[in-house]
Parts: sequence; structure tokens; C-alpha cells
Amino acid sequence: MNKVIIKKTEEIKNWRRNIKSDINLIPTMGNLHNGHTTLISTAKNDNSNINLVSIFVNPLQFDNKSDLENYPKTIDNDIKVSFANGADAIFIPSNEDIYPLNNKDISFLKASIELSSALCGLNRIGHFDGVCTVIYRLLNLIKPKNLYLGEKDWQQLLILKNLIQTKKLNVAIKSIPTKRDFDGIPLSSRNVNLSKDERKLIRFFSNELLSAKKNFQLEKKINLKKIIKKLSAEKISIEYLEHLHPYTLKKSKVEDNISILAGAIRCGETRLIDHVFLMKRSPIIAIDGPAGSGKSTVTKLIAKKLKLLYLDTGAMYRALSWLLIKEKIDYKNEKILQNILKDISIVFKSNSNSKQDVFINNHCVTEEIRSQEISSIVSKISSIRAVRNFLVEEQRKIGGSGGLVAEGRDIGSTVFPDAELKIFLTASINERAKRRKSDKKSKESQDIELQKLKELIKKRDFEDSNREISPLIKANDAIEIITDGYAINEVVDQIIDLYNDKIPQETQIK
Ligand code: C5P
Repeated sequence: MNKVIIKKTEEIKNWRRNIKSDINLIPTMGNLHNGHTTLISTAKNDNSNINLVSIFVNPLQFDNKSDLENYPKTIDNDIKVSFANGADAIFIPSNEDIYPLNNKDISFLKASIELSSALCGLNRIGHFDGVCTVIYRLLNLIKPKNLYLGEKDWQQLLILKNLIQTKKLNVAIKSIPTKRDFDGIPLSSRNVNLSKDERKLIRFFSNELLSAKKNFQLEKKINLKKIIKKLSAEKISIEYLEHLHPYTLKKSKVEDNISILAGAIRCGETRLIDHVFLMKRSPIIAIDGPAGSGKSTVTKLIAKKLKLLYLDTGAMYRALSWLLIKEKIDYKNEKILQNILKDISIVFKSNSNSKQDVFINNHCVTEEIRSQEISSIVSKISSIRAVRNFLVEEQRKIGGSGGLVAEGRDIGSTVFPDAELKIFLTASINERAKRRKSDKKSKESQDIELQKLKELIKKRDFEDSNREISPLIKANDAIEIITDGYAINEVVDQIIDLYNDKIPQETQIK
């Protein structure tokens, strides 16, 4: 495809009509830096869509006339770096193209009141309304599949997600982490306006936020007053510094696992914002569902793609069942069972095929626990209170610092009720039986008739769903995915999209 520069609204409409593939839109206000070029190249590498960069300094989002007049303009260089980093087309409209007079197609929008009544919204009256108006206009003109935005403007990102939701637009927001300069300050087009001394101040401010993040990892708390005092001692003019819930932008509560520390300061004429995410632990994905719903395959692939720890809790129940059967333990006798549990150790280790082996008291039982004998007894054993208490505690120890995707029956409801993303994976009984029959892990299942497999699965579903303690249920806040008719990769991609949509990319940086 020829690289094109488009300037007029009519031209972009024509261009759009002739484009058959999907589009990635990367909206910018120009004076492109490494943050923008990363957005463009990320979009390029993500998919084979057409990459369209728009460059438009939107007057509606400036609450200060001199800020608008001083906004740096470097259009020739912007065109060069956009194309060099993967833009297929660049849209450079004029004010009259975006806001023609007396045009009834233009809706002047209001940003979400809740989200714009915090942080920058308090001082920059009308700013987010202007952002919503211009993005809505661009989305209507271009109808992209994906909209690429930086997390640097986190509040803007939340407000635009909200806009897309309320307007029911068919576009996905993809975000990238804040790009920082060599000295820690976030890249921003306005940085070119900073004097040497002003740059020193913002460096101090950003480094304070970054060290607050580090301290939080150790101490799990933050002293806002202390940070404000330190900044004030450097004569830094703070517009705000707040510790908030990352999605609602309301005051953060002690139980919040991820929160945001966000600030704005003034350096001379320039106003700069920065933030960090504070985390008590890394994010957790919980995947629950009945037997044969595809949990294991999907969960393993997600762990690999997102570089998360993989925890198969079913394998722990199976391993314990294997030991109790093999050693002919009278597990119905509570005293005997408690005595045994005291000395049980279940560990997962990667093997030479980069797969996980499961060991119970140093026996490798990876294959044996998949036998029909174990499958038919495991639900009974997993319904015993002492067994559940023991294994849930073990699972919480493994997942204590997060950064994992766990699969089972009660992960979202009991083991990790505060998991950031909960999925309930299911499929029709027919589909699940067919999958079990072709399960390479279990030779025995392959030999059982489909009808018999259906009955066995139904029986296990019944036992798992009707036991007294933490039965198989869909947690209130879990997203149900019915996998009938979907390829494994489609399900995996859907869950990864949900994860990326929910969890800031910045928290995913190791
Ligand atoms: O997932 P898998 O089929 O390997 O699980 C085996 C059994 O372990 C389930 O049928 C269920 O009885 C039990 N289990 C459980 N809670 C979990 C995971 C598995 O009760 N979190």
C-alpha cells in the first residue's frame, strides 16, 4: 500500500470507503517523541491492520490560550517519524475540517462526570470534554478497529474507555506503558518548553513517585504527607498529589490491591503530570469451570503468553487423591487424614519439555493422576473440609505475591476472591465429552465411549457443584465464556484482551 497523507475531511471519508481491512488509529497532537513512536510501532507489530496516525492540535482541550499558542509544532519531522515507525497513512486535518461551522454532524460531548471530577479535571475545566469531542469525531470519520493510547494520560484513557462504552462504539482501546526519558521523567511533547532548572524539578518529582512505588512494594503503604513535604522543600509547586483507586479515581482504600499515585506540578509556564501504580502484589487471573471446558489448555497458553506462573489446582486435588488411594488411607477418618496432611508436600517443577511435573512427597505423579481411577474419586476427596482447607492454604502460599494464572473450581470464589480478572470457562456437555475423548493426556479417556464419558463428566459436575464447601460456581464478578465452536487461540486471545483492558500495562512490567 502506498503511504498517504490526507488533509481534508472529504478525502479521509473517500479513503475510508476504499479501505477493506481493519484500521489502527493512533491519535496525536504532533511533536512526536519516543512515546508516540512506540504507539505506532506497537500497533504495527500487533496485527496486519492499516496504521493511521492523526496529527491535530485540538483547541477544545486547551483551557489556557498561551498553552495552545506555545504548543510545539514540528509537522515535517512528525511525518517522517510516523512513516519510519510503521504509519501507513497520516491524517492532518485543519480546525475547519474537524469543526466545520454549522455542521450538525458534530457532537460536543461531556466527559463522564465521575471520572472527570478528580485529578486534572478539577483544574482543567472542559479539557476532557474537548478530548471526548475530538476522539468521537475521529472515531466516526475513521471507524477504526483499535485505538492506541498511552497510559501516561491515565485519566484520559479511563474517560475514553468510558466514552466508548457509553456510546457503544465497536472499537478496542490498546494501551502502552508510560515511556520515560533517561532521567526518569515521562516523555511529553511539552518537555521541550522546560528550562534546565525546571527539568531538574520535574526529575525530582518523578523520582519521588518512582521511589514511592518501590517503597510500597516493601512496606505496602504510602505516606502522602511526607512526599508532599519533600516536594515543597524543593519549592515544587504541586497542583495535586493523590492516592486513588486506579479505575474509579476515588480515594484508595486499604484493601485495594492496585492503586494509583498521581500528581501534577507546575514548572514555570509548563504543567506536567506523572503517576505510578502501587501494587501489593502482581495481578492474578482466576479461571474456573467444569471438567473438560478447556481450562488447562487455555490457562497454560495464557501463562506462557503473559509470562505468568501457571497453577493447576485440580492437579493438587488429584495428587492428594492419588496418595490417599495408593497408601490405602482411611480418609473418612478425620484424625488419620489430619495426621497425613501435616506431612504432605505438593510441588510443581518444570521438566525438560518445558512442561510442569507435579510431585507429591517427592513422587512424580504427573501421568498417574490422569487415570480414570483418580478422575472418579477426586470429587469425593475434594469435598472433604480438611482437604480443602489444606490445599486452599497451599494455593494461597504459591500465589501470595501474584503474577499468576490459576485454574480450578473455586479460584475466583474462594482461593483468590480479589483476583483482578475472573473467567468462568464452560462448554456444552457434548463438546466437553468430545474434548475428553481426544485428550492426549489420558489414554483411558480415549478408549471410553462418548456416551459413557458424558455420564462420567455429568456425575463429576454434579458432585463438584453440589458439595457443601466451595462448590463449583461462577463468582459474581466473573466473565463467562462459552467455548463451544471457538478455537483455543480465539479463547486465549479473548482472555488476554480482557486482561490487557483491565490491567494497566505498567503493572505488567517485570
Ligand atoms: O481440573 P481437574 O479436572 O483436574 O480437577 C479434578 C477435580 O479436582 C475436580 O473435579 C474437583 O473435584 C477438584 N477440584 C476442586 N477445586 C479446584 C480444582 C479441582 O475441587 N480448585
